[in-house]
Amino acid sequence: YQAKRDRTGVEVYESKRDSNTPDRLGLLGDLRRALDAHEVQLHYQPKVRFDGQVAGLEALVRWVHPERGKVPPDEFIAIAESSGLMPHLTEYVLETALEQVARWRSGGIRVPVAVNVSPRDVHTPGFAGSVAARLARHGVPAGALQLEITEHVLLEDPQRAADTLAALTGHGVKMSLDDFGTGYSSLVHLRRLPVSELKIDRSFVARLAVDTEDAEIVRCTVDLAHSLGLLVVAEGVEDDETWERLRDLGCDAVQGWLVAAAMPPEEATAWLRFRQTSVGSPTRRPLPPGE
Ligand code: C2E
Ligand code: MG
Ligand code: MG
Ligand code: MG
Repeated sequence: YQAKRDRTGVEVYESKRDSNTPDRLGLLGDLRRALDAHEVQLHYQPKVRFDGQVAGLEALVRWVHPERGKVPPDEFIAIAESSGLMPHLTEYVLETALEQVARWRSGGIRVPVAVNVSPRDVHTPGFAGSVAARLARHGVPAGALQLEITEHVLLEDPQRAADTLAALTGHGVKMSLDDFGTGYSSLVHLRRLPVSELKIDRSFVARLAVDTEDAEIVRCTVDLAHSLGLLVVAEGVEDDETWERLRDLGCDAVQGWLVAAAMPPEEATAWLRFRQTSVGSPTRRPLPPGE
């Protein structure tokens, strides 16, 4: 039951978990068609270091349903996961992201892209090999791809999950542990997973500047991650004060609306070009010209 509440104790909307309602089945069929019709898009949100360097971009899936409008990823990903469509969605996302990475590289922009993968994917036989083959097909070096996983990969058959992740890192793909602090997380998991980056969940970051307990949690997480040799990224940074606190706590990079929201590919390209050419690379949202 615990898992159905968020940290603040607020019940999380669960109707999406009732499987097989007509609504869900309808959405599932629509999602399948949308994938085939390439109507699902990826937007890209930067991860930025405190010195202004762009550490990478995270691909976030976006679906605008013809009648319902925007469907939140959390909602349709839950549907894809419980219906068996997840491997197809992940293939689609990987394919689209790698095409984009290749396009950026041929235009002189070398930026790693992170793709979120679900525990289902990690437990799909042959997953690591298929990722490696896909990289090769697109001529993209493994180091340009990062996969974001959550601790949930360890819920079922942790040994197999660890083997798959080891195979992926063996191919040179970097692993990032997403939403850290929200799962059944423990330090044991951290030690077991071959990850090179840890992302502190937004729920700890949001009130960092006003809540001393959250600030302590973030401080300890940063120190722990560093002592294990991991980079730390804070999710959901929305204001200057939080940005400054994270910098002072020694966090390595931030992601959040303060810097940029997830952008469609063309906008992300323009953002990257601006970053590449702007002298001194401002870390935060660039000031309008003239200021
Ligand atoms: P996530 O991977 O933890 O992604 C971070 C979420 O926080 C994204 O929501 C992002 O748009 C949002 N966000 C970023 N900065 C801020 C901020 O400053 N403030 C606030 N309030 N929110 C911010 P989004 O795009 O709705 O995605 C939700 C979740 O859906 C993701 O969480 C990820 O778990 C999942 N997801 C998204 N795309 C994919 C995908 O391609 N495959 C899989 N398997 N899961 C995905
Ligand atoms: Mg993520
Ligand atoms: Mg996250
Ligand atoms: Mg999340």
